[in-house]
Amino acid sequence: MIPYGRQDICQEDIDAVVRVLQSDYLTQGPMVPTFEKKMERYVGAKHGVAVNSATSALHLACLALGLGKGDWLWTTPVSFVASANCGLYCGAKVDFVDIDPITYNLCPRKLENKLLLAAKEGRMPKIVVAVHLCGQACDMKALHTLAGRYGFKLIEDASHAVGAKYCDEFIGNCSYSDITVFSFHPVKIITTAEGGIALTQSADLAQKMALLRSHGITRDTDLMTHVTDGSWYYQQLDLGFNYRMTDLQAALGISQLDRLTNFIKKRHAIVGRYNSLLADLPVVTPWQHPDTYSSYHLYVIRLELDRIQKTHRQVFDKLREAGVGVNLHYIPIHTQPFYQQMGFAQGDYPEAEKYYSEAISLPVFSTMTEDQQDTVVKALKEAVGY
Ligand SMILES: *Cc1c(COP(=O)(O)O)cnc(C)c1O
Repeated sequence: MIPYGRQDICQEDIDAVVRVLQSDYLTQGPMVPTFEKKMERYVGAKHGVAVNSATSALHLACLALGLGKGDWLWTTPVSFVASANCGLYCGAKVDFVDIDPITYNLCPRKLENKLLLAAKEGRMPKIVVAVHLCGQACDMKALHTLAGRYGFKLIEDASHAVGAKYCDEFIGNCSYSDITVFSFHPVKIITTAEGGIALTQSADLAQKMALLRSHGITRDTDLMTHVTDGSWYYQQLDLGFNYRMTDLQAALGISQLDRLTNFIKKRHAIVGRYNSLLADLPVVTPWQHPDTYSSYHLYVIRLELDRIQKTHRQVFDKLREAGVGVNLHYIPIHTQPFYQQMGFAQGDYPEAEKYYSEAISLPVFSTMTEDQQDTVVKALKEAVGY
């Protein structure tokens, strides 16, 4: 099966991890701060807090921004469930804003309409989580303007967008947001096996997230409530978690980051080839906003079902039968049983649901060969009866 995504591990990556295994520290050693520095420098952020997953990073980001009981977090229904669950972890309530039918990202115009209504009803969001779906940036200028006008905080869930740019700046430098989160799961652009990072320009937010990452405990005497009892002493100042990244993971991340630029170039080459090979097929290829340089974590096509004699499901199954590991990103979050229990219903977000009824993620990963890509294209042609 040709997977929809997979990691790209070289000998340097392996050597980097082995060196840590032979060193004094498997965790809480020098590799995590080195990885954080390197990532900060790459994207142009002042502070980075590396953690054990993007899900943890989203949770810490929400807590650092003060999200709690009675608050609202809004996000897009077309994302991984973690983009919404982070609000629930904090005891807040979650709501969604439908997508733009062209970019598939949260639609700023629909956001503003919903904000106007929420202002009247007194249920304004404290946080909006913008997801850069597939690696294509959201309209961050529009979202930033709305954040200022309506007084909410902005988190970028950039799990798909490590190495991507918006208006010629790297996503992660938080020019238009409070905190940006990356994921390093193996299907994403670079990997630490499991892992994530929260980036911010704010020293205060970074300090809060760093504290909560490790039990709410500090050894920094400046943060303590009274003079230290001795050199063994630490204080717990808040209820935190163990969300730490290990040094093994950080070493892998450091090594992978050296190849990030190259990974994205390869993804662009694959996408360029898909775009031309699929041009005559009854499918919609990904539209790109001129302000964005995508990391192309995903290559999502939409079937033009009125031009195809098969159903979405039949095309999907045919591709899988042909050994093409297609996937579907994502099942709209509001249609998940857990969210339906909270009162969301089918029909709530029509653009997200229409997208779901037509979308298929084709394989794209940096080690993909032209032969593999030709297999995908041939299988797709057969599946749509072209
Ligand atoms: C992968 C992903 C996450 C979760 O990342 P983990 O590192 O696996 O926790 C969150 N949001 C989006 C959009 C993702 O794609």
